[in-house]
Amino acid sequence: MSQKRIIVIGGGAAGMMAALFAAKGGASVTLLERNEKLGKKVYITGKGRCNLTNAADMEEFQRSIFRNPRFMYAAFANLDNRGVMDLMECLGTPVKVERGSRVFPCSDKASDVIGALKRGLDREGVRVCLNTRVAGLSMEDGRCAGVKLEGGEVLGADAVILATGGLSYPSTGSTGDGYRMAANAGHAVTDTLPALVPIETVESWPGTLSGLSLKNVRLTAWISGGKKEKKLWSEMGEMLFTHFGISGPLALTLSSRLPGDLAGVRLEIDLKPALDAQTLDARLLRDFKAMSRKQLISVVDGLAPHSLAEQLVKLAGLTAAMPVNSVTAQQRAALLETIKAVPLTPRALRDYNEAIITRGGVSVKDINPSTMESKKLPGLYFAGELIDVDAATGGFNLQIAWSTGALAGKSAAEA
Ligand SMILES: Cc1cc2nc3c(=O)[nH]c(=O)nc-3n(C[C@H](O)[C@H](O)[C@H](O)COP(=O)(O)OP(=O)(O)OC[C@H]3O[C@@H](n4cnc5c(N)ncnc54)[C@H](O)[C@@H]3O)c2cc1C
Repeated sequence: MSQKRIIVIGGGAAGMMAALFAAKGGASVTLLERNEKLGKKVYITGKGRCNLTNAADMEEFQRSIFRNPRFMYAAFANLDNRGVMDLMECLGTPVKVERGSRVFPCSDKASDVIGALKRGLDREGVRVCLNTRVAGLSMEDGRCAGVKLEGGEVLGADAVILATGGLSYPSTGSTGDGYRMAANAGHAVTDTLPALVPIETVESWPGTLSGLSLKNVRLTAWISGGKKEKKLWSEMGEMLFTHFGISGPLALTLSSRLPGDLAGVRLEIDLKPALDAQTLDARLLRDFKAMSRKQLISVVDGLAPHSLAEQLVKLAGLTAAMPVNSVTAQQRAALLETIKAVPLTPRALRDYNEAIITRGGVSVKDINPSTMESKKLPGLYFAGELIDVDAATGGFNLQIAWSTGALAGKSAAEA
């Protein structure tokens, strides 16, 4: 039997893994990458350290995937987080587990993750073509029969794996080519949005606190629907004020949970989530008593960093210099309410240039989850971020790329 010819489009995380597994499966594999090098985005992951996966159990994985977690069952069964860690070790890049079960290479260098994959591709005899941009898919007799390059050349193949990534950080090569190719071949592509991205607020005051980070706060999003307001999302953690609004882990996660239309959404930051309103009021009363002759800001300074304390006083409709002993019970209640629920209104998500990932993409309805093969065009397989699956920070998104890539490569070689 002649060797199966497989073309992988895109030499990012998913494409490299797909090429490796297709070659391991005995196919003759060509990996086409438009950039001058492989894995340009992987280099900048985890601030250059590459948080390549998460050591959590699969239940936690399912919880950390925001859209279409069930689509991932077979891909994780084929290659899970342990599999990726073992593979990295085998390819000469040992890994370590850090806080939050985040997995990094022991060297703290993303380049070592790419180095490992390159060694694997080399060992398996994958042909890598850099500076090669694919313009479209070539189809014959209702099958995917190869690719058309930008220059017009057509390369034939028995199977093609599309792993061109999403739209985030377009400078790394992911400019949405794969969505267009998939749509042209009859696949549904759901609306895309920047995700794991900072959020702009209607209020301009966060700009005056730019750079201030908050730990152990609770960020909650509410949405007005019908007569009643609904809680959309709420989590505790860290966040950051920026010149345009909010960023940091909580804001990034929230961005993935917000609806496309932000009308009717409001946010609250609980600065003291460990204290219920009654306990916090008792503390305020105690502080008011102890500092009755001082200015109000002296009390609030004990509850928040000074710049934020000043803002809290303003938001509560009070003044920093007012004597503590002049604060009425009603004013104290307003201050307490502000500390427990600092109000913010999201205006927009920042754009793809700042988004860690893209939300939306090729509809999972058009992909067989057991093989990653298209249900519309036999011989075409999908892998990575261009599929409509997205997850939280912590190594989950790269694991999605590794797992879908490995399954696509293996199935394409076996089919
Ligand atoms: C700043 C940043 C930090 C991140 N940190 C982490 C992290 O620490 N942990 C984590 O899990 N995730 C992280 N992510 C997300 C993670 O990088 C992505 O989920 C992952 O890279 C997606 O892999 P992919 O192969 O699908 O897409 P990509 O990595 O984007 O690869 C797609 C490749 O296809 C190529 N390509 C595109 N079109 C064509 C074409 N027409 N012809 C040929 N080639 C083409 C591109 O040049 C690119 O190399 C981070 C993302 C960013 C932006």
